[in-house]
Amino acid sequence: MGSVVLSLDAELAWGFHDHETTPDSRGDAARESWLRLLELFDEFDVPATWAVVGHLFLDSCDGEHADYLRTAGSDADDPESEESSADDRFDRDPGTWEGRDEAWYGSKLIDAIEAADADHDVGIHTFSHVDMSQVSREVAAAEVRESVELVEERGLSAESFTFPDECVAHRDVLAAYGVRSYRAARPRRWYETGLLGAAVELLGWPTGTVSPTLVEPEEDDYGLVSLPASLHLFGFEGRTRDAVARLTEDPVVEATKQGIDRAATENGVFHVWFRPNDLTDERDFDRVEATLEHLAAVRDRTDLSVETMADVAADVKDDEPLPREPIGPR
Ligand SMILES: [Zn+2]
Repeated sequence: MGSVVLSLDAELAWGFHDHETTPDSRGDAARESWLRLLELFDEFDVPATWAVVGHLFLDSCDGEHADYLRTAGSDADDPESEESSADDRFDRDPGTWEGRDEAWYGSKLIDAIEAADADHDVGIHTFSHVDMSQVSREVAAAEVRESVELVEERGLSAESFTFPDECVAHRDVLAAYGVRSYRAARPRRWYETGLLGAAVELLGWPTGTVSPTLVEPEEDDYGLVSLPASLHLFGFEGRTRDAVARLTEDPVVEATKQGIDRAATENGVFHVWFRPNDLTDERDFDRVEATLEHLAAVRDRTDLSVETMADVAADVKDDEPLPREPIGPR
């Protein structure tokens, strides 16, 4: 008997901040998507892991974040150092407040997660949506520390983590700040590798994207629980989606139904992830609703459980919190 986990990367404008232009309208629409998703989760009584960009816990800021690298020591004063250029990451930060620039702050949206009936898991997705594989350990520590502190100011604990662009790095830093689990990349299937994989990619056929793979959580070398993704709910988009949508039912919904059915009869976790930013169209909400409706129905008639990443981590580890060794100035 398996379980189903839903994890969300909640980013708003931070998901686009390293792009040439920020589609502000998409960021604003994502707030609406965020609230509609919470309503859908409540309608079907399904909890999810919300991995939120740390900056979104704020309701205002000065746009500078001078304290951000306080663990970096003297490097921050060296114009040649990587750490000083880390300030660039706040170049697009408006330095205002939530009512004014609502794509960059999300304090009220976190309130909404906490107020929801479903028992959601509030996790983190870095502080400023950095690619963790491209930053120094000091910057990685700043990203995790700032986020964890903001979560804890709300009386919550930040146990679950997702990496922007699924670039897994600096796991020791996560462990040092008390994170217990992270989402790892979806395992690649045999037909996605080598020449056949290249052909599949060229033709745009979404074989791997929509295969209902069950995954196994594993404890890694840092004592963290690694939970691979099974499926990105909106990984199958663009021309291929339009072409298929004319011919058949939504193939992604078919895949999520198969994954849910498999998890009800086999061991393993069916782990679906997406972003509030992914939902831009009514048919996107239809896809989420159809998935949740099937999930709730199967859960109610079988022993299938719906878990958060925090629940999975608690299953794998005994419930002892990890020893916590914050990374201070060196
Ligand atoms: Zn800011």
